[in-house]
Amino acid sequence: KAVVAIVGRPNVGKSTIFNRLVGERISIVEDIPGVTRDRIYSQAEWLNTKFNLIDTGGIEIGDEPLLIQMRQQAEIAIDEADVIIFIVNAKEGITAADEEVAKLLFKSNKPVVLAVNKIDNPEMRDEIYEYYSLGFGEPFPISGAHGLGLGDLLDEVVGHFPQFEQEEVDEDTIYFSLIGRPNVGKSSLVNALLNEERVIVSDIEGTTRDAVDTHLHRDGQDYVIIDTAGMRKRGKVYESTEKYSVLRALRAIERSDVVLVLIDAETGIREQDKKIAGYAHDAGRGIVIVVNKWDTVETDEKTMKEYEEKIRAHFQFLDYAPVVFLSARTKKRIHTLLPMVQVASENHAKRIPTNVLNDVIMDAIAMNPTPTVKGQRLKVLYATQVAAKPPAFVVFVNDPELMHFSYQRFLENKIRDAFGFVGTPIKIIARRRS
Ligand code: GDP
Repeated sequence: KAVVAIVGRPNVGKSTIFNRLVGERISIVEDIPGVTRDRIYSQAEWLNTKFNLIDTGGIEIGDEPLLIQMRQQAEIAIDEADVIIFIVNAKEGITAADEEVAKLLFKSNKPVVLAVNKIDNPEMRDEIYEYYSLGFGEPFPISGAHGLGLGDLLDEVVGHFPQFEQEEVDEDTIYFSLIGRPNVGKSSLVNALLNEERVIVSDIEGTTRDAVDTHLHRDGQDYVIIDTAGMRKRGKVYESTEKYSVLRALRAIERSDVVLVLIDAETGIREQDKKIAGYAHDAGRGIVIVVNKWDTVETDEKTMKEYEEKIRAHFQFLDYAPVVFLSARTKKRIHTLLPMVQVASENHAKRIPTNVLNDVIMDAIAMNPTPTVKGQRLKVLYATQVAAKPPAFVVFVNDPELMHFSYQRFLENKIRDAFGFVGTPIKIIARRRS
C-alpha cells in the first residue's frame, strides 16, 4: 500500500485535513477512558484505492525550534512516504519555514502535491497563484474546515502512486508483531522465539520498508514474526527516537493478526505502556499481553495472580487479552507463548453461524430483559456476524437509540461467554430494522 505523508507548518490545518481524509475510521471502541490517542497514522481510501496516511505534525519532536522541527518532519516524510502532501496556509502566505521545507522536499525528488489550505470560498481561489513559486506545479486550493477541494487533491495524490506488487498474505499463516517501550525486551524475545527448541525457522524473508519478516513453524502452525525492533539498529539518528518507532509499530500492527504487548516486569507498568497498548486495541487486532523479564521477580504461588490483577486494573480496555509471563533471557515459560498467539488468532478470525448466535442473544434477553427508555422498549429482532478479524456483529433493533451502552456491554459479555473470544476485541453495532 502506498504511504502518503502530510507536511506543513503548525496551524496550517494538518490534523483537520488528516481527519477529513481518514474519515470515520471504524474504531472498535470509540472512547477508551485513559487512553489518549494522537492519531498520526491511519488508513484512508480514495476511489477504491487504499493507502496509509501519516500526519508528520503529530510526531512530537520535542521543544526544538520551528525550523528544526520542520526539517525533521520533512525528513520523515521523505523517508517514509511515496507521495507528500505539502500544506501551506492561504491566510499567511509563503513564510520562511515554508520555503525551507519546500527546498528539502524539492531535493528529495519525491512526488509533492501542494495544497493551499483555508481557501474557504470560491472568491479566494485567485490567491493560489503566488504558490506556484514554490516549484511544485499547480497548487490545489482546499478548505479543511469545509471539506472543499479534497477530491481534486486526492485524484492528484493517487495519480502519483507507484505500482505495488501485491503482498502475498497466506491465510493459514499467523502474522504477529511485538510492541512495547524501548528496552522491554522485544529483540530479546524475538531471538528467544527463534531459538526455541520446537520452533523451526524456515527462512528470514525479505525486509520490508518497516520490518524484518521471519517465518516460523511450530506444531503444524506457520507463523510470521513482523519484527520492527531489528530495524532500529539500522542507523539513522531519528530512527531511535521514540515517536519514530511508534510509526513503525503502527505499521507492523496493521499487518498483524495478533499483537504482543510487552510489559517489563522489572520496571513495572508505565503510562507509555497504556498508550502503546491503546494503539493495538484501536487497530482491532488480536492481543496477548506478555510480561517479560519474569526472571527478575521473586515469585511465590500468588505473585502471578497479583500481577495479573494489577495489569487488569491498568488495562481495563484489554480485558479480553490473555496474559503470559515469561523471560526472554532465561527462556522460562517461553513455550507458552506461541500456543497463546494461536488461540488469539483463531478467535480473531472466528465466525459464528447466525442461528447459533441468535440462540445466545435470545437466551440473554430472556435472562435480562431489554431496557425501556421514555416509555419505549428496545426490541431486538435478530443479530448476525458481519465481519471477522475482528469479529463484528450487527444487532437489528426497533430503534438504535434505545440500545444503551450498558445493555450493549451485557450482550457483548454474553457473546464472549458463549463463544470464548479470548484474545480478540469484538464489536457490536445496533442497526434499525422495523
Ligand atoms: P527492545 O528495545 O524492546 O528490543 O529490548 P531488548 O531486547 O534490546 O532488551 C533490552 C534489555 O533488557 C537488554 O539488556 C536485555 O538483555 C534485557 N532483557 C531482555 N529480556 C530480558 C529478560 O527476560 N530478563 C532480563 N532480566 N533481562 C532481559
